[in-house]
Amino acid sequence: MKITSVKAMILRTKIEKPFTSARGWWYKTKNAMLVQVETDAGIDGWGEAYGPAECTKMVVDSLLAPLLIGQDPFDTDVLWEKMYQRIEDYAPQGFGVAAISAIDIALWDIKGKDAGLPIYKLLGGAHRRYVTPYATGLYFKEEEGDFTSPAVEEAVRYKDLGFKGIKMKIALNRKDEIKRVRAVREAIGDDIELMVDANHGYSFYDAVWLAKEFEKLGISWFEEPISPHDLNGYRDLRMKTSIPLAGGENNFTRYAFNEIMEKRAMDIIQPDLCCCGGITEVMKISALAEISGTMLMMHVWGSAIGLFAALQVMAALPPAPHSWKAAPVWMEYEQTESPFRELLVKEPLRRENGVVSIPDKPGIGITVNHDVIKKYLIK
Ligand code: CA
Repeated sequence: MKITSVKAMILRTKIEKPFTSARGWWYKTKNAMLVQVETDAGIDGWGEAYGPAECTKMVVDSLLAPLLIGQDPFDTDVLWEKMYQRIEDYAPQGFGVAAISAIDIALWDIKGKDAGLPIYKLLGGAHRRYVTPYATGLYFKEEEGDFTSPAVEEAVRYKDLGFKGIKMKIALNRKDEIKRVRAVREAIGDDIELMVDANHGYSFYDAVWLAKEFEKLGISWFEEPISPHDLNGYRDLRMKTSIPLAGGENNFTRYAFNEIMEKRAMDIIQPDLCCCGGITEVMKISALAEISGTMLMMHVWGSAIGLFAALQVMAALPPAPHSWKAAPVWMEYEQTESPFRELLVKEPLRRENGVVSIPDKPGIGITVNHDVIKKYLIK
């Protein structure tokens, strides 16, 4: 089989009610950078890149696509190295790796479709048949005002929808933020797991102060408390609190994750399949995590394509630690409005009894809705 074309495309939609995390960057549109790889066997594969869509598309179009034409899509390891060598000197972190990720996912989709098997089978089988979704939300939607009541309302809505976990964005000054988190905890009770995500918006000393307070509120993990580049800071913070520290959505490839684990900087690493290097790379990261005793919980923030691909990997991740009464394998389920999550594939994901079943259709398990692509395609 040979690759005949690699098409990168950007879908864009306006967001009715813009929102922000601690980054202070207001999301006014939602974008998806998708890659479709076609072959001479008539089989195509789909992938997605996380990060600035124009930049990842440019890397695919100008640097990576020319390497792939005429190659065998089954050579995922060989092609990964070839692509990485092309960008290694200029973009070994960031959108160079995100572009590789999109293509790698598409190649695995082709392999699965040709074999008539879900990708988890090609990765060695499914350790689990379902995962437990947690709702990611409670963003900030106003510049000023009451930030607590909308957060409480939203959290209660997720609880009523049957979510067993909720991850809330945090960004305010530490005293106001702790009041907000406490109000959410009181509203949802102690049976729902509550995580907090600072998108690396705090200083080290604010993060220490907050972590101490979170200990009293039974917070399940503190995500990106400080800069992803300050791994010594993570390690020191980790020694000062019993709250697990999580991060990794802004770290790329096994090289960066290896550094996190060598420094014992995080309790939970969260590679995003659509930017950490794709399926080929995340399995290598997973092996490092298992060796170092670090939990791996995937970060997911894209369209249905990224989500379905992540589910295939979640099925194949080894149970670590192996345990009779293992903790749930969490699936990040982003809840801000997006037609790309709900409409892009013909059979969107369903939650039933608080869990999501791993799809067992060939490849990443999707049929793309081309009408939706046409409607939102900008280039
Ligand atoms: Ca996050």
